Amino acid sequence: MKRGTLLIHNGHETDTALLGAAATGALGTPVFQTSTFDQSPSFGEAPSGPREYDYARSGNPTRRVLEETIAALEGGARGYAFGSGIAAVSSVLGILSAGDHIVAAEDLYGGSWRILNTFYKRWGLELTAVDASDPDNIRRAVKSNTRALFLETPSNPLLKITDLTVCLGIAREAGLISIVDNTFMTPYLQQPLKLGADIVVHSATKFLGGHSDVISGLAVTRTEELGRRVYAVQNGFGAVPGPWDVWLVLRGLKTLKVRMEAQEASALKLAQWLRNRPGITGVFYPGLEDHPGKAVNEAQASGAGAVLSFKTQKPEQALRFLGRVKLAAAAVSLGGVETIASYPVRMSHASVPPEERQRLGITGTLIRVSMGLEDIEDIIADFDQALGPGEIN
Ligand SMILES: *Cc1c(COP(=O)(O)O)cnc(C)c1O
Repeated sequence: MKRGTLLIHNGHETDTALLGAAATGALGTPVFQTSTFDQSPSFGEAPSGPREYDYARSGNPTRRVLEETIAALEGGARGYAFGSGIAAVSSVLGILSAGDHIVAAEDLYGGSWRILNTFYKRWGLELTAVDASDPDNIRRAVKSNTRALFLETPSNPLLKITDLTVCLGIAREAGLISIVDNTFMTPYLQQPLKLGADIVVHSATKFLGGHSDVISGLAVTRTEELGRRVYAVQNGFGAVPGPWDVWLVLRGLKTLKVRMEAQEASALKLAQWLRNRPGITGVFYPGLEDHPGKAVNEAQASGAGAVLSFKTQKPEQALRFLGRVKLAAAAVSLGGVETIASYPVRMSHASVPPEERQRLGITGTLIRVSMGLEDIEDIIADFDQALGPGEIN
């Protein structure tokens, strides 16, 4: 089955898989708003079938539908849902131990960077951050106590491409657990487990939910064994989502294909328009012909996604744009139906130290755009008026 069909037909089209003989045939997933489950009918026996649940932190039927759905979409053994994307990231990192060393891409999502550099550093996880767009940097960073590799491609907010096949191969050879944040691409465009990753993480807040109305996260493991380790942290840390939030992600997922395709087509048009716009000094989008990672991205993903970024000449112009833009929201987050323009320096990457940001090219002139579902002509007109003349005197 192709991925668009799998979004709709993944074994949970009705409540049959969940409820067995008691199924109603409902096309909507039932929301089990409950904290606990009466165990008396089979007390003392090994729980099974629809009666396998005991406490909703440990397992909830609605959550299970999402967990099985994302596992199927990513082609993994096990899926786990969390209360946020960063809860998914933190919980997956929780399978590592004090004294372990992790190699991570230096331009990971700002919140992932923060948890590695603060919380996990305090708990004894050693970190080396590298520019992963050159795989040799990963090879050089591996030490005797290296246990994991953490990648994100395209990177945020500069849309650099990492060669997953090569880098995941390095991880496999070195016996590392490889983790890929697949938020920007979604399993509709990219399936890292099939390229050799061990664990995929998502902020389901973004394209998977797709409507800017829920905070949620997911993780998928390639093997059952890794699944058991992630489950121990999910249940132990307890950063689980509620059933309504799970339900919103499930509903969003059904339209992922059409949203992704439309948003991606518009993102390319916007990138091309920005490229020719006076006053724009750089456009970063892996779908552009001269993007250095275009060929690699095409080899590992079936699209360039719907996030791009660009630079103005001066920070004043970026700030003026964000103040004047009308259709697009000047906001954090991405992946919703509405176009969002964000300012990484003060938003997603505010927690990255200024000198580190400067080194990475995350400057005060940089704006990140998540393309929405509006008609592209209207977004271009809005951007044009908000950018105003190229020069500020
Ligand atoms: C937003 C985001 C996260 C964090 O997800 P939350 O749902 O905000 O906790 C992690 N990774 C990437 C790439 C993101 O864009």
